[in-house]
Amino acid sequence: MTAPTIQLVAPGECVANCTQANCPRGTQPIVEFLPAVSNVTHKKRAAMLKILAKLGELFDDPDCAALLEELGVVRTKTCETCRLILKKSQANPNTKIGACKRKWFDDLKPQLEEMGCVECGWNGIDAMTLEHTDPSKKKRDKKGDPVSLGDYIKWSSLGGPEAMQAEFDMESVVPMCLNCQLMAPTHNAMKLKIDPDTLPTVRWCDDPAAYNKKRSLTERRKKQDYVDGKKLEVGACAECWMKMVPFGSEYRPGHSGYPHAFQFAHRSELDKGRGVAKVVNDRRSYDTSKAELDKEMGRSRLLCMNCGKVETDERKNAPGPSEEEN
Ligand SMILES: [Zn+2]
Ligand SMILES: [Zn+2]
Ligand SMILES: [Zn+2]
Repeated sequence: MTAPTIQLVAPGECVANCTQANCPRGTQPIVEFLPAVSNVTHKKRAAMLKILAKLGELFDDPDCAALLEELGVVRTKTCETCRLILKKSQANPNTKIGACKRKWFDDLKPQLEEMGCVECGWNGIDAMTLEHTDPSKKKRDKKGDPVSLGDYIKWSSLGGPEAMQAEFDMESVVPMCLNCQLMAPTHNAMKLKIDPDTLPTVRWCDDPAAYNKKRSLTERRKKQDYVDGKKLEVGACAECWMKMVPFGSEYRPGHSGYPHAFQFAHRSELDKGRGVAKVVNDRRSYDTSKAELDKEMGRSRLLCMNCGKVETDERKNAPGPSEEEN
């Protein structure tokens, strides 16, 4: 890996280098370093196109240095050709990752979709997963984290397609949609959380750890209650028939679910801050976070997890227009 550099060589003409050590193309026009059209990089790509448009009008201008620095943050490190070569090798079934990718997309995933969800019968594309009725049998990576079958890159070092098939064939494994998986009794979100009010009240100077724990749980609970209240006000998925009922009340698989089985999904991939869940789970207080929560919920609509996943996949190569000129 070589260090990334960018130079302005003429008005509106920028070059940058590929950091891939053995790249024979070396320094190339800046467009070779545009982030791909994908839902992970839409925002960076749009930002980079804006900077390039501004740069086109400037040369020998004091603002150029700052713009070039911004470009350095959003550009990709390797050139488009190097990225395509990598992508191709990952798709080649003769490589380890390629074989696992093919196993998932051409074999196991279509089978899952055809079987449909055991709980509600959902068989829409892209929201199906495997549920372990015995979580202790779930495949784990070296760190001990569970590995889902769709995570094909990880399976390339965990036994490859044969191990994926063995996991798929296990008797304790059933096809389930994301909504029902989130409502399964074994799911963490379905377990009762510690009520911060039951923790002893201590002063910070007496026991800082206990004080901080009670404080952060209390604030997280406040943020979560606020967001869940907003979700319940909306009360249903904007795309399908799924209705929301308060946590702990009666529900019907495939018809209703608790707030955690729904998400605030951004209306445009380009108008996104941190996700609502991230803001809820960080360490900041409810009072500090409320404005950010309101802003992110305001640029979103409510979707059940199944519809959210379908939309995310559909947007992979099409971010949709920004409503905020981002
Ligand atoms: Zn390259
Ligand atoms: Zn289901
Ligand atoms: Zn839905």
